[in-house]
Amino acid sequence: MSRVLIIGCGGVASVAIHKCCQVSEVFTDICIASRTRSKCDALAAKLAPTTQTKITTAQVDADKVTEVKRLIEAYKPDLVMNLALPYQDLTIMEACLACKVSYLDTANYEPEDTNNPAWRAIYEKRCHEEGFSAHFDYSWQLAYQEKFKEAGLTAILGCGFDPGVSQAYCAYAAKHEFDTIDTIDILDCNGGDHGHPFATNFNSEINLREVSAPGSYWEEGRWVEIPPMSIKRQYDFDQVGLRDMYLLHHEEIESLAKHIPGVKRIRFFMTFGQSYLTHMKCLQNCGLLSTAPVEFNGQRIVPLQFLKSLLPDPASLGPRTVGKTNIGCIFTGTKDGKPKTYYIYNICDHQECYHEVGSQAVSYTTGVPAMCGALMFLTGKWRLKGVHTVEEFDPDPFLETLSKYGLPHRESTTPQLVD
Ligand code: NDP
Repeated sequence: MSRVLIIGCGGVASVAIHKCCQVSEVFTDICIASRTRSKCDALAAKLAPTTQTKITTAQVDADKVTEVKRLIEAYKPDLVMNLALPYQDLTIMEACLACKVSYLDTANYEPEDTNNPAWRAIYEKRCHEEGFSAHFDYSWQLAYQEKFKEAGLTAILGCGFDPGVSQAYCAYAAKHEFDTIDTIDILDCNGGDHGHPFATNFNSEINLREVSAPGSYWEEGRWVEIPPMSIKRQYDFDQVGLRDMYLLHHEEIESLAKHIPGVKRIRFFMTFGQSYLTHMKCLQNCGLLSTAPVEFNGQRIVPLQFLKSLLPDPASLGPRTVGKTNIGCIFTGTKDGKPKTYYIYNICDHQECYHEVGSQAVSYTTGVPAMCGALMFLTGKWRLKGVHTVEEFDPDPFLETLSKYGLPHRESTTPQLVD
């Protein structure tokens, strides 16, 4: 019997909420709270006839700690799932700490306003000291480590697919498949087609910020940063086929470098078609990916937020997206004194997801792990105190639960390696 407060009601949250309602013996009560309450009400009305879970809704501006605190105090949840945006991570963590409730999210903190001088001063120091320039890193949330520990609370960071399942795959490989891991390549392939000339598969503001930034990887104890999209490889993905993929900076590289002992290199690749890249370059050249506010007809607007308002809502892509995603990790290392390679991955079909929960596979592959991570916490399987990333928890019950709820893994010991 658990009460869970879910903040956000977009593409990812919708899937997680559908899945929570399939496990109503654990998720007995959920409150869906978001900026736009009508979306929460519509989802609650759709799900209520199909589930034993008692669903309520609320309006909240999660940028405001006091509003989140008020909601937590009124609802008294056992866990808060932050499925809103990375911009709200710190305010929601702050409210959880004040109200003594554990926390889970799917993406690490990133400020909405990257021109804020106070934030920029810390950011520029970190770029200089660490050697990567992404606008997000774990330091902001790890700053809560001691406070969460002292309060006896758990914060599970980045519990989507990547970050999230990708790190559980690493923990699983370290636990069962290797004595030492030398290299990790995380490969994220979306072989789906939504039929729009240009659209993103999750929140477009967050997505375009991520993919237009410089890439970076971890090698021999340090970051190597490269211009955006400047390392390209081809990979023949199981059930998808040959795709171009590009090296990106990705948040789990930072935590894996800390938690996988002896690892020499960690890279992250994501597939993009040429049309997507051409659109993105054009939008960037026109200034539409900028997060710096500009004056337009007497109004202050952020170009990237304006662009987001023109692009298709990722939550609307479900009915029209066909094809599959294939996301996983390739490892090299040694086992029992012998060299070994190992690939663990999941394949997910966009249309099957749509028929099950009304969403495409990118939301599905994020929402299902969020529900499974919450289930790990609520059933006492993941109870480390403090602020932790997914590879720090036992991967076995998590992978078992993912398989049960729609994301089974496949394995190979003879994968094609990425050069
Ligand atoms: P959406 O834009 O579809 O949904 C975001 C939701 O958050 C909306 O319901 C939005 O409300 C709500 N929201 C935004 N600001 C606030 C606020 N201030 N207060 C309350 N609610 C707010 O995003 P997605 O569902 O695509 O993505 C959700 C999260 O998942 C993001 O953090 C994203 O980075 C992460 N993600 C993680 C992945 C992984 O594998 N780990 C992969 C994909 C996404 P409104 O309806 O009013 O706009």
